[in-house]
This record gives sequence, structure tokens and C-alpha cells, in this order.
Amino acid sequence: MRRILAGLVLLAALAGCSAGTLAGTVAGRGSAAPPVLCGGRAEPVTVVACVVADLDRAWSARIGRPVTIRVTVDPEPAEVDRGCRPFLAFGTAFYCPADDRAYLTAASVARDRAEFGDRLPYALAGILAHEAGHRVQAVVREPGLDRPGDAASRAVEQQADCLAGAWAAGAARRGLVDPAAFRAVYAREMEIVSSLKPPPGSGLEEYDEVATHGTPAERVAAYDRGAAGADPEAACALRRG
Ligand SMILES: [Zn+2]
Repeated sequence: MRRILAGLVLLAALAGCSAGTLAGTVAGRGSAAPPVLCGGRAEPVTVVACVVADLDRAWSARIGRPVTIRVTVDPEPAEVDRGCRPFLAFGTAFYCPADDRAYLTAASVARDRAEFGDRLPYALAGILAHEAGHRVQAVVREPGLDRPGDAASRAVEQQADCLAGAWAAGAARRGLVDPAAFRAVYAREMEIVSSLKPPPGSGLEEYDEVATHGTPAERVAAYDRGAAGADPEAACALRRG
């Protein structure tokens, strides 16, 4: 979930998933049927493709500028910008500003599959919603993105959490996700990533997820601000540089 200032990012093979499959069956909308994300499909690449399509559409409409989120699932090291490559060893998802791409490592997918089971699509969507927040920040040239230091990093990261909450609320209104279940998965994901420690020899020994992102409670509070706000730009204090 981290955003690597030195220059990092994720782009799945965005194949085989049209926007129309996102909501599941048409009959599910507006009926008693529960929300179904991505037509109930669970394959990570498929989920990534349809969630990214919705994120692109939703954020482009919201901010009035084209937003294209690029994601690589299970990247090879050579695919990742050199400055961001060390984060592959951390085994999470991360956003690389150097190539404006999000990377979703196989380790993170495997970990979330073990943790969330049938709710894996929600976990992936939550991750993507956060990384999309970083893309939105880049598109609007949010002031302070390059500011050094943990406090500045926390502000950027929690704004991405806020933007993730804003997207999730919209997705719930569109009948794609159950908002309470989605929030629960997001909150658990925050706990999981906050507990990870960089592996010895990774070159990331000094990296501190909580110092750079905030505590899980702080991050969920940011998500809630975005989910509750009628206007994501106001709720998340999104500025335009
Ligand atoms: Zn982040």
C-alpha cells in the first residue's frame, strides 16, 4: 500500500473484463440480491481489471480529468522501476511515482487469499482503491506529494485512504459492494500491512510502515471521512496544484 517517494507502482494484464461485468447481473441491482463485485469472479487479474475500470471511470468523472490507473500483478523485478524495486521484497502492493504504476505482488495476493478467502475480491479492490488515490493525487498535482519526512508521508497516505473510502461509498451506491463488509476488509488489511516487517537483507530495514502511513485506526478514520463525505474533494481535502 505504500507509496515510494523515490520513484515506484502495478498494472495487471487488464484483460477479459468489461465494465459491464462489474455489477454482476442486472437483476442484482435494486433488488434484494446482495451486491456482487465483478460478477462474482474471483481470479485476481479479472478482479483487478474490472475494479480498475470502475476506478478510472469514477475518478475521471469526479475530477473532470482523465484518470488511468496502471497496475501490474505479480511483477517481475525487471518490470519495476529501479528505485522502487526493493519494495518487491516487502511483499505488499505499492505505488511507484517514478513510473506512475501500482504493483501488486504475488505475495500480497497469496496473503490476502489466505486471510480473506471468498472476500479476496474486496481485499484487492480496497488495495486498488488506495493506489488509485495516489494516481488521483498525481493527476491533480496535489501539493506536498514530494515533501520528505514521515509526517508528510502520512498525510499523503491517509488522503489515499480517504479517497479509497470515497470510491467505496460510490461503489456501494452503485450496487457493487456491501459497504460494511468492504470497510471491515479494508480495516483488517490495514492491520495486516501495519504488522509487516521488511525482511533482512532487503535494504528496507529502516522502513517503518506505521511511521510512514499511520496506525490502522488513523487510516480507517481517514477511510471513514471519505466514505461519509458527499464530496470527496472536500472530505479528503484534495487540492489542485
Ligand atoms: Zn499508499
